[in-house]
Amino acid sequence: MNQVLNYIGGRFQAAASGRVVDNRSSITGEVLCTIPRSDGSDVDAAAEAARAARQGAWSTWTIEQRATLLESVANALEARMHELAHTESQDTGKPLRVASTVDIPRAVANFRFFASAVRQHHDGAHEMASAINYTLRRPVGTVGLITPWNLPLYLLSWKTAPALAMGNAIVAKPSEMTPMTATLLARILDEVGLPPGVFNLVHGLGPEAGQAVVEHPDISAISFTGGTSTGAMVGRTASAQFKKVSLELGGKNATVVFDDCDLDKTVAGAVRAGFTNQGQVCLCGSRVLVQDSVYDAFVPRFVDAVSNMTVGDPEDPAIGMGAVISKEHREKVESYIALAQQEGGHVATGGVRPDLGEPFDSGAFLRPTVITGLSIDSRTACEEIFGPVVTVHRFQSESDAIEQANGVEYGLAASVWTSDLGRAHRVAAALDVGMVWVNTWLMRDLRVPFGGVKASGVGREGGQHSLEFFSEAKNVCIAF
Ligand code: NAP
Repeated sequence: MNQVLNYIGGRFQAAASGRVVDNRSSITGEVLCTIPRSDGSDVDAAAEAARAARQGAWSTWTIEQRATLLESVANALEARMHELAHTESQDTGKPLRVASTVDIPRAVANFRFFASAVRQHHDGAHEMASAINYTLRRPVGTVGLITPWNLPLYLLSWKTAPALAMGNAIVAKPSEMTPMTATLLARILDEVGLPPGVFNLVHGLGPEAGQAVVEHPDISAISFTGGTSTGAMVGRTASAQFKKVSLELGGKNATVVFDDCDLDKTVAGAVRAGFTNQGQVCLCGSRVLVQDSVYDAFVPRFVDAVSNMTVGDPEDPAIGMGAVISKEHREKVESYIALAQQEGGHVATGGVRPDLGEPFDSGAFLRPTVITGLSIDSRTACEEIFGPVVTVHRFQSESDAIEQANGVEYGLAASVWTSDLGRAHRVAAALDVGMVWVNTWLMRDLRVPFGGVKASGVGREGGQHSLEFFSEAKNVCIAF
């Protein structure tokens, strides 16, 4: 794939301006492909194709037809699992093992799940003395889907599947840094017979192509996953036009370790929560809060486990971590490691680039890093770093743990490690977050509400929440 193209109205095409941007490998620094540097005119063309599709045969497709199409997409993704996983790994720098066992299987599951969910979805009827109310669900219209680089196909499919299930047309804008699997998805949608114009893909830079999607008057809903500051801009623009908006934003999630936890499971869970996908999952547990009475038992084991993680060639099946998304992002992460030291932190492990030899020394690799000794309200402990850096802090009591966990602007997720059932319930209820895991992390059931509070976002995705976001409810009241 030397040149990635837009997909508009069923045609693969360059940006109208002919301009392109390089997409570089974070593994070797080489140019992987070019992408169209789309602007407002390409988004106009995509929105126009979407409008035409909505007014055409797509509007007559039944739920059963749409669900069957989603199943065909899932089957086609599954048939190309190896190609997709390899492409995702090359585009993001994540281990091929992770792309093969998490990202692409989850994209398959998303399409299969929403095929089933839309078949099962129902709304209630409300009876009155002399009338009955029922709810009709209608597509919102054309929806804009804007997705980040950390889980490219996983997150695009999480929005595309329910949007199609509910009969919408789509203008999608993936991250400019990870355009490749979105393009393969467009090919698959084309091959399985989605009518032209129902799914449109516009590549380009966020402030250009992305902003044009958010501003377009014919795009009626925006489903955005990305950083909190970008989300604030998206929210302001979209709300002023009365668009439906879903914002899935950043996190600074606590891993809360009580002294009654199963230490082996907790150490393994905290490592997984901290460093999966090089720490680039919005749900990553990047602040580990440890009860004072178990701190001296937990921390050396945790640091030892992190020190033993391998970093290197993402194609190596034994590798623990690949590259972060770009050299620029690595510099940002490293600037936080430097800040942590200025703030009085101690780098217990990591903090350096691994010596891998070429071609990997031209990539964006970084050792997994654990920092101790920081104040709980230091910038390093409160700001989202979104990389392989975890800070560790002490707490005394249950109420201290809750106060520390809640003491950040974010409110996405937390994990709580304890063998006391009552404490698990109390702490889960008191945390200001959208999702709590107890004695596990990132165990997902696609039916449950997914999303955050505070600066972590607005709205929920998952199961009926996604189907409701991507539809308008219309009440019909019939008098007897
Ligand atoms: P980002 O910089 O906010 O970008 C997200 C998407 O928005 C990209 O497609 C980006 O395009 C686009 N964009 C940038 N500026 C825009 C604008 N002015 N108008 C419209 N779109 C614009 O975030 P990121 O660095 O890709 O992703 C990392 C962030 O995502 C982290 O904060 C992470 O926590 C968050 N995240 C949240 C969740 C969740 O479910 N809560 C899941 C995953 C990630 P370009 O890339 O081309 O600039």
